[in-house]
Amino acid sequence: MTKEKIKIYYSKDQLSRPITYELVKKFDVMFNILHADINYGSEGNLITEISGENKNVKDALNYLNEVGIVYKKYNKFIIRDEDECIDCGACTAVCPSGALTMNKQDELQFDKEKCLVCELCIKACPIGVIDVEL
Ligand code: SF4
Ligand code: SF4
Repeated sequence: MTKEKIKIYYSKDQLSRPITYELVKKFDVMFNILHADINYGSEGNLITEISGENKNVKDALNYLNEVGIVYKKYNKFIIRDEDECIDCGACTAVCPSGALTMNKQDELQFDKEKCLVCELCIKACPIGVIDVEL
């Protein structure tokens, strides 16, 4: 089994195409949609995890290329220095996916599965303890 986080870009003409359904049916892969930004009538993008047998995921991504749907793989991720973090919560205010939240003890929680690697939290952190790792 393998899992890839990808961002799929839809042109105006591709918006109505049920591409994730096609990939599930053709290649037996699964999707975990993390974020969707679709402007009907213009364009959009979808951030999702695609998982399944290695070959199936590879074939599914090749299929996107074949049908002209553009995607990019996320090959970097967010890291936080937990020892230096002061739990001020500033990063949670800009996080669009809910990956960064405060718990009942006012401690920062980071759910990397929800992270879109948008990097907004890096700029928001007043003491620079969030970074991106390639
Ligand atoms: S990069 Fe930071 S702000 Fe963006 S989704 Fe991930 S944790 Fe949230
Ligand atoms: S903004 Fe920086 S210091 Fe504040 S909670 Fe987030 S990671 Fe910690």
